[in-house]
Order: sequence, then structure tokens, then C-alpha cells
Amino acid sequence: MIDFSKLAQAGVRELKAYIPGKPVSELQRELGLDHIVKLASNENPLGPSKAVEAAVAGALKEQARYPDASGYELKDLLAVKHKVKPNQITLGNGSNDVLVFLAQVFLSPDTNAVFSQYGFAVYPIATQSVGATAKIAPANSPKHDQPLGHDLAALAALIDENTRVVFVANPNNPTGTWVGSADLETFVSNVPDTCIVVVDEAYTEYVTNQDVPDTSQWLGKYPNLVVTKTFSKAYGLAGFRVGYALSHPDVADLLNRIRPPFNVNSLALLAAQTALGDSDYLKKSVELNEQGKIYLKAELSAMGLGVIPSATNFLLVDMKQDASGLNQDLLKAGVIVRPVGNYGLPNHLRISIGLPEENEFFIKALKKILNK
Ligand SMILES: *Cc1c(COP(=O)(O)O)cnc(C)c1O
Repeated sequence: MIDFSKLAQAGVRELKAYIPGKPVSELQRELGLDHIVKLASNENPLGPSKAVEAAVAGALKEQARYPDASGYELKDLLAVKHKVKPNQITLGNGSNDVLVFLAQVFLSPDTNAVFSQYGFAVYPIATQSVGATAKIAPANSPKHDQPLGHDLAALAALIDENTRVVFVANPNNPTGTWVGSADLETFVSNVPDTCIVVVDEAYTEYVTNQDVPDTSQWLGKYPNLVVTKTFSKAYGLAGFRVGYALSHPDVADLLNRIRPPFNVNSLALLAAQTALGDSDYLKKSVELNEQGKIYLKAELSAMGLGVIPSATNFLLVDMKQDASGLNQDLLKAGVIVRPVGNYGLPNHLRISIGLPEENEFFIKALKKILNK
């Protein structure tokens, strides 16, 4: 017997694989349910915009050709949107891809990455996959006005001369919390030149009245800043896998050296380009999310559960008991939410905001389970 884990580099040996939301088809196979509501992966419940569906359907005949490896047209549109140059953009197969590129380019076994205790699960995976050390900053206390959110002072305190990357999701997943413009700018401006600050903005489109900056506008001031964005959430294209990093051109050059050729496929490029032009869809998505968030928050709070403030399309909820049994009961009722025990939050569930009827189906099921 070969012990392959002995052959693997130490960082990988210690890793646990990313746990995705359960697909609807899997629950269907397991329990044979006919009505299933998935509120587990922060997807846009509207489905992709009609304009995207039409554009992609019309391009199927061209798929014997390789994609445009440079993503010229998409980068052109993104450059205008974010007021940057195309040479500041790195395209990814989802923003997960560019987070991995950042780790591959800047991290190694003799360096470390800093992130928050309840930071996004991809940060430890990207860090350890290249043998670097993860330094984890304690999060805000549950009593803070951003409970379990990023403690920027704690993050700053962990950055040393061997820190090459600090990851800050704003707003954050799985907490939904955020850090304000002034605090974040002070933090970014104090990160030394030897460290890349990655601000992961997967959810900024959902921000309404909260004080969350679009840090792409700071790139001119802070050359070590990298901003990552995605089409997976508010743009409704999670299945297509398109994300990107905005950075100094020299950083983009390094990232693009290791980017696999053709990492974003032709249909995904086209879908993203088309989605950028459909501002009505985005507006509708954000409005629907706001209404659903108000409804869910009121219902969950009325049940005595602890709802953490959210600037995103999901709510992290303190169920006031171990949530794994509740999660099982919800699955049996046909509702898929996201347990976050892997984040060290065994009493919480993360609930994505769905269509009104999906939200109501979930609340009804939960009330029944909790006898409320
Ligand atoms: C969903 C998410 C991403 C993006 O995922 P992709 O689908 O790979 O673009 C990135 N960061 C955070 C914090 C997320 O929640």
C-alpha cells in the first residue's frame, strides 16, 4: 500500500476539501422529494437574465473553436465599468480561480497569508495548497455591532515581514457582515508594501444603504491592493464560472503568467459580457433580495433566533442550539440551507435569500420543526 498522503506536501495533507451547498439533484436522489428549495449557495434565485439565455443559445454553433484567451471584449467592458485599464484585469474561472492565482504567485512555504477566523473557506485552501502558513485573526465578538465580522486591528496585528497576502472579504461570507469605508481605507493604507491586500467583493452589488466601499476606485492610490469580483452572485451566472481581479498592471502581469490558457470558456465570456449590459436584471435582483431579506429577518427574529446583520444575499442565523439536527430536518422537508460547522459555527445556519415563495416555504418548514 502506498501512503499517498505522505507524498503530498504538508499543507495539502492538513487540508479539508471545500464543502459546497448540496445540489438539488442530490437531495432528490436521496429522498425522492418532488419540491425542493435550495437556499444554500447564495445564487441568484431569478436564474440568468433572459438576454444572457438568448446570447448563449445563439452561440452554440461556434463552440468547436477555442475561446479568446485574452478575453479582450469582456476586459474592455470591465475596464470601462471600473475605470481601469484592461491590463489591470485578470479573468478567472470564477473569482475562486483568481484567489488561487494570487496564492500561487505570492505565497510559498516560507511565507504566510493572513485572514479572519470566519473568512471565506477558499482562503485556507488557496494558502495551504502552496505550502504557505495561514495566520488566522480572531473575529469580532458575538456582541459587536458586526458580530463575528472582521476585526481589522486583529488582522493588521498578524501581518509580519513574511506576510505576502491578506484576504479581506467585504462584505464577508459566511457572516454577511461588512467593514466601513474609512476603517477599511485606514487598514489598506497601513499594509506594508511587502504584502498584497486582497479585498474580495463577491457581494458588493447587493450592498444598499450600508457603508461598503467599491475599492476598485482605490487602485490608483494603493498599488498593493487587489480587488476580486464575480459574476456568480448578483449577476446570476454561478454555473458559467466567471470572476476577475483588478490590480496594478504589474500584479495583473504576474497573475496572467500562471493563468491557465482559456480558463474562461467562450459561453462564459459571452454570458458575462451580456450580463453587464442588462442593468434592469441587476436592479430587479437587488430589489428582490432586499424584500426577501426584510421578510426573513422579521420571521426569524420573531422565532427568537439571532440574525446577524447582512449586506449580502444571505443571512447567518444563530439557531440557539446545535444546528446539525435542524439541518437534517430541513433537508427532509425539502429545504437545503448551509450548515457552517466547518467554519467553527455549529449553532449557525447560513440561509440564502430566495424567491418570495421559496423564503415562505423555508419559514413554514422551520416553524413546523421548531414548533413555533
Ligand atoms: C461566492 C464567493 C466567491 C466567488 O465564487 P466564484 O463563484 O468562484 O466567483 C468569492 N468570495 C466569496 C467571499 C464568496 O462568497
